[in-house]
Amino acid sequence: MPGLIVVGAQWGDEGKGRIVDLLAADVQMVVRYQGGNNAGHTVVREGRAVRLHQVPSGIMRPGVLCVIGNGTVVEPFSLLEEMDELAGFGCDLEVLRISRAAHLLLPYHQVLDQVQETSRGTQALGTTGRGIGPAYTDKAARVGIRVEEMLHFDTFARHFRAVAQEKNRLLVALYDQPPLDIEAMLERLRPAAERLAPYIADTSLLVHQALRRGDRVLFEGAQGTLLDIDHGTYPFVTSSNPTAGGACVGTGMAPAEVTGVLGIAKAYTTRVGSGPFPTECRDDVGEHLVREGVEYGATTGRRRRCGWLDVVLLRYAARLNGFTSLAVTKLDVLTGLPHLRICTAYRCGGMVTEEWPPVGYDLADCEPVYEEWPGWSESLREVRRWEDLPEAARRYVERMEALVGLPAHLVSVGPEREQLIVRRSPWGT
Ligand code: GDP
Repeated sequence: MPGLIVVGAQWGDEGKGRIVDLLAADVQMVVRYQGGNNAGHTVVREGRAVRLHQVPSGIMRPGVLCVIGNGTVVEPFSLLEEMDELAGFGCDLEVLRISRAAHLLLPYHQVLDQVQETSRGTQALGTTGRGIGPAYTDKAARVGIRVEEMLHFDTFARHFRAVAQEKNRLLVALYDQPPLDIEAMLERLRPAAERLAPYIADTSLLVHQALRRGDRVLFEGAQGTLLDIDHGTYPFVTSSNPTAGGACVGTGMAPAEVTGVLGIAKAYTTRVGSGPFPTECRDDVGEHLVREGVEYGATTGRRRRCGWLDVVLLRYAARLNGFTSLAVTKLDVLTGLPHLRICTAYRCGGMVTEEWPPVGYDLADCEPVYEEWPGWSESLREVRRWEDLPEAARRYVERMEALVGLPAHLVSVGPEREQLIVRRSPWGT
């Protein structure tokens, strides 16, 4: 019953999509366990980029069952658009299943997200404004509407009207906004519900059956460890749990069924939106990383903040997720930097710590302690074997492995499917 969880080890955008796409060649099922259409995985195939927001990256591999788990929030209109785009790309959507228990992200969530973010002013969280936070808020407040309800549209409509009326009161009274047209929203939702109905399933049972059969199941998280609502840089976090535990809660898989957890880490660090970032480089190095790494968000086009590799954060991620191995991505982006820095500890409140900042401090209070390594100037894009990497690149990855205490089984050197060095299978076989 091999169940492998793939988790971003940093602030998301680590390149999980392409790693899942690769691993999906060898699996029967890929399951998304949290997040919504704020996530954006990019899979590049024959020079064409496909951006996936809600559909698991396994969809690019024929025959792999792709599940949108109960821990996600589903925005019906953008999901349908994405499905149409994938169909146009030649993907078979017969393999898609949407959890009956996933919550719907509805038009009022988007409007609320935007007005709430605007009203925060300088305290803005940097949300994508897609309604993810408000949809999860409703789930926790037990006023959310679940995917399964769309199957009985008249009952759904009654529930929707009641919730939407309350949102309208909020929009008008608190945010000074015009009320939303509830019947117009329902008119758009009816055909969407009809189109999505055939895909709705009891996905926790499907996952369980697959694992019992001995199928290989891949659990795909969105965002990354440091955006976890409990363990990340709160409040600059997402509204769900990207960490490995979220894969159990967000799919209905039992913890004992997990056989491995693969941490995806960029060879440097990036983050989108606001919040502390100790190793951020606001200089030529930052520019180099943005330019060479094309560090712009797949969903929003926002420029990502870039900086040196931070192994304090990677160790934290390794501990929280129980990583069994690492995939190091975007090593090629470091080509051309004469010296590379790795943050091994923080100076914080007069102390030096190799752990997450002590109680009473947060990342904003931390100054990185660096060690320096030589860079390399050769392009890595054509390299396919570990031994063909320049020595400085190997030493850099080996140092990363030693500091985190985990092997890097995969090393990627470009966005294309084949631009990857596989040192060992992350399945442990
Ligand atoms: P995800 O959300 O973790 O899947 O990450 P994204 O897809 O948002 O961001 C990763 C970006 O980096 C995409 O544009 C990928 O095509 C690209 N990418 C992934 N791996 C590599 C790599 O090894 N080298 C380079 N240069 N780009 C990569």
